Amino acid sequence: MTWNEKRQHMVDSQLVKRGIKDNRVIQSMRKVPRHDFVPDPLRKCAYDDCPLSIGKGQTISQPYMVAFMTECLRLRGDERVLEIGTGSGYQTAILAELAEEVYTIERIPELSERAQGLLDEAGYGNIFFKVGDGTYGWPERGPFEGIIVTAGAPNISSVLGEQLNEEGRMVVPVGTRHSQSLYRITKRKGQLMEENLILCIFVPLIGEYAWEEN
Ligand code: SAH
Repeated sequence: MTWNEKRQHMVDSQLVKRGIKDNRVIQSMRKVPRHDFVPDPLRKCAYDDCPLSIGKGQTISQPYMVAFMTECLRLRGDERVLEIGTGSGYQTAILAELAEEVYTIERIPELSERAQGLLDEAGYGNIFFKVGDGTYGWPERGPFEGIIVTAGAPNISSVLGEQLNEEGRMVVPVGTRHSQSLYRITKRKGQLMEENLILCIFVPLIGEYAWEEN
């Protein structure tokens, strides 16, 4: 099978079959070459139904989790989105396909640099990168219509909540260092409304308003 055939099969069998419905999310995942974001020697597993190591103790999320979290943001194309945890840059590319501007923060410089290289090469002009602790958010560039946290947090952060627009959506895994529940937070009349969606496992969010390193 070619990479493209593998990718279409992944979308049909892992996303559509399991209930991902947002056609824009589906089309973006049909298009973006996930295998470019997976380093060797795991590249051959890029379309497998699981997260994969990207080095530095971090992972690229399972395709279904990327699709599910993105669908939760309900993007229509005119949004500014904040991503905490650039990692491989794959989720960043999907967001850049679906929103107007993406602001992405990564605490590990080597991962951020690698992702920037790949995303620049792919020609995305609507992604803004920062190396640092994403638990502070990016207040100078906010507020955002969407915030996506791709590492497991100990609680729902009011710091990030303050950077959400009215009717803005935030998706964030919340729980222990080892397992979490995925929450969608929607700001309504200035209040943060919580929905507990599914169980998940992410690497820990490390920072001032999250877990300590080790
Ligand atoms: N969306 C990425 C997920 C990478 S794993 C992908 O699919 O490739 C989570 C990432 O969050 C890791 O790269 C980790 O270094 C980063 N991270 C953890 N805590 C962070 C923080 N406080 N600020 C920014 N990035 C953080």
